[in-house]
Amino acid sequence: MQVVRTRAELRAVLVAATRPVGLVPTMGWLHAGHVSLVDRARAESATVVVSIFVNPRQFGQSADFARYPRNEARDLAMCEAAGVDVVFAPSVDEVYPPGFDTRVSVGAIAGPLEGAARPGHFDGVATVVAILFALVGAERAYFGLKDYQQVQVIRRMATDLALPTEVVACETVREPDGLAMSSRNARLTPDGRAAAPVLRRALLAGAARVRAGERSGAAVRDVMLAVLAEEPAATPDYVSVANPDTLAELDAVAGQALLSLAALIDEVRLIDNERVL
Ligand code: AMP
Repeated sequence: MQVVRTRAELRAVLVAATRPVGLVPTMGWLHAGHVSLVDRARAESATVVVSIFVNPRQFGQSADFARYPRNEARDLAMCEAAGVDVVFAPSVDEVYPPGFDTRVSVGAIAGPLEGAARPGHFDGVATVVAILFALVGAERAYFGLKDYQQVQVIRRMATDLALPTEVVACETVREPDGLAMSSRNARLTPDGRAAAPVLRRALLAGAARVRAGERSGAAVRDVMLAVLAEEPAATPDYVSVANPDTLAELDAVAGQALLSLAALIDEVRLIDNERVL
C-alpha cells in the first residue's frame, strides 16, 4: 500500500495504476462502514484509492472541525488490512493551495435537511469531492447511504459537470443495536452511546406506521418525534418524510418516501435515514 500526501505524488502513482480505479473518500477514523465501501470498491476495481481528509470547508463551526476524531496510524492499518492500494492523506494546504478561490455549489437538492441545518456544508462537500474526482480520475467512487442527501448532491454534481466518475451508493452498516456506524459515535459518553439507538427506533417506528397504511407525512413525523422524546438525552434537530428524489417534504405519502432525522446527543450531531415503500 502506498501512502501519498501531495497532488503530484497522487498523480504520479495513478499514471501507472491498473484500471479500473475505485475511489473511497473518507474523513478518517475508519470503521466497518468505511470498510464496506472499500470491500465493494475492491470487488469492482483493479486499484483501490482511499482518501483520508477532514475537510474544513464542510464544517460550520471550527469547534466541530477541531473535535472531529483523528488517528491516522490506525486508519492506515485498517486500509492495509482491507487491501487498499493507495491512500491519499493530504494536508489542508495541499487540497486548497494558496489562492484557492473556487466553490462548487449544488442547487435545490442541497437545500433542505442537512443543507438547511448546516449552511455551506454541501458546498464544502461538493468542492472537495470535485477535487478528488479530478485528481483520482476513478471509474467509480463509493459513498454511504447513511449520508443519503450527500449521495444525491454528489450525483447531481457529477451529472451536471460531466465528471466521468460513476457514483456508487452503498447500504448503511450498523452496530448490533441498530445505531448507524459513524466516526462521531466515538465522541459519545457511555450514557450517550446507550441512548443513541433511539434514532433508529424512531425511524423504524415511522416506517412501520407507513407500512401499516398511514399516508399523512405529518402523522409519520409525529411518530418519529414521539419516539425521540422518550429519550431525554436526545434533542431532535429535524424529522423528515420526503420524496427520495427531490427531498421535498411530503404532505401525503404516495410512492416511495425517505424518512430521515438528525438529533443531538452529548452535543454530537447524529443522522440516520430509512427508505419505505
Ligand atoms: P465520513 O468519513 O464520515 O465522511 O464517511 C466517508 C464515507 O463513508 C461516506 O460516503 C459515508 O456515507 C460513508 N459511511 C459513513 N458511515 C457509514 C456507515 N455506517 N455505513 C456505510 N457507509 C458509511
